[in-house]
Amino acid sequence: MALFERDRDIYTDRDALREDYQPQELVGRDDELSTFQSALQPVINGEQPNNIFLYGKTGVGKTAATRYLLSHLREDAASYDDITLSLNFLNCDGLSSSYQVATHLVNELRDESNQISTTGYPLAAVYDMLWEELDALGDTVIIVLDEIDNIEDDSLLYQLPRARANNKLSNAKVGIIGISNDFSFREDLSPKVKSSLCENEIHFPAYDANDLIAILEQRADVAFHDGVLDDGVIPLCAAYGAKDAGDARQAIDLLMKAGDIARDQDGDTVTEAHVDQGRNALERGRIEEGVRGLTEHGHLVLYALLTHAVEGNTPVRSRDIRPRYTRFAELADRDPLVPRRMRDHLSELTMLGIVGVTERNEGRRGGTYREYTLDMDVKQVLDAMSDTVELVGIHESVVDKALDNVDIDMTDAA
Ligand code: ADP
Ligand code: MG
Repeated sequence: MALFERDRDIYTDRDALREDYQPQELVGRDDELSTFQSALQPVINGEQPNNIFLYGKTGVGKTAATRYLLSHLREDAASYDDITLSLNFLNCDGLSSSYQVATHLVNELRDESNQISTTGYPLAAVYDMLWEELDALGDTVIIVLDEIDNIEDDSLLYQLPRARANNKLSNAKVGIIGISNDFSFREDLSPKVKSSLCENEIHFPAYDANDLIAILEQRADVAFHDGVLDDGVIPLCAAYGAKDAGDARQAIDLLMKAGDIARDQDGDTVTEAHVDQGRNALERGRIEEGVRGLTEHGHLVLYALLTHAVEGNTPVRSRDIRPRYTRFAELADRDPLVPRRMRDHLSELTMLGIVGVTERNEGRRGGTYREYTLDMDVKQVLDAMSDTVELVGIHESVVDKALDNVDIDMTDAA
């Protein structure tokens, strides 16, 4: 008997739910696509291309819309003999400076044997190499800088759109498509960069539940066998997606997780219960990732808050968290941080969505203070920082939350 057998009951094409899948059509983005398309029209007219700036939160279709339109642009431009179009796509994730982006572009445009090192050249020299490579492409050059908010300085974003005006380029007409997940990136650009880079701005709003239903249905048609999904499954994934962030990627991930769980359980249908299990599993993953990335003091602060939460003492002020945090730090054989630093850790936890915060007014005399709550499942958080819990010992409030992966004695933490 075969040890491995192909699973066929649930999926026809599971890859259609993966991040790198490019749908044939985008659903529910007609307005944005039509604005975007008009902004690209000069390319077909043989004119100087526009700079275009797309912004919106993650998972709202910015990258997908760009790939979709550019693949049509490439196809349609090919039918005009007098257009040579070069499309260059760069994701700036991990590239934090103009220098890094510029060397990256140069290397993308050069062949293997002629690559430059990513350090050591003066910036101006790298730009000269870049202009040379761009000019060699000739005619119309589109450069997509996806996740452009990773670039921390303006230099390249200033130079690129002006290269032709400054006589750095004689052949190439360059258009930049900048894509940002972060609205404040645009606000923080210097006015001169903003006016050129953002001459055509397109905002991609978050999806609501109905948008997500349409997107999920389109994807499910490709990915799942007919009749495998219970009627409530897509609406439930969409409802969670809309509630969380209006992020299509998260909603698709959730649908895939539910499908995987159904498959692992040898089911032949995907149910709403699978969606809920999937959501828990994904959430656990997110918490683990967030908590694992914290420093030890972050863990100690979180542990102190968590025990207050279990005792029913939340919302709680930082000055009331402090005595327990101090004691936990001592038990873990660490020097407690000063109150200000401790509060910094609370802020970080709120940014990660692990902790909730409410601002309150202090009676008639003015002043405000903050109260904190634990926004995540106690057991999941404990599991994710088991090393620290092990160092401190188990607090009496959480003894019954028996930890899966920790073997601890009751200690003075109680
Ligand atoms: P962003 O770049 O804004 O973070 P993406 O373009 O990567 O988001 O979209 C996230 C996922 O959702 C991708 O798998 C994408 O194919 C899908 N998606 C987003 N919007 C749509 C849409 N309108 N129609 C179909 N699929 C979509
Ligand atoms: Mg993207």
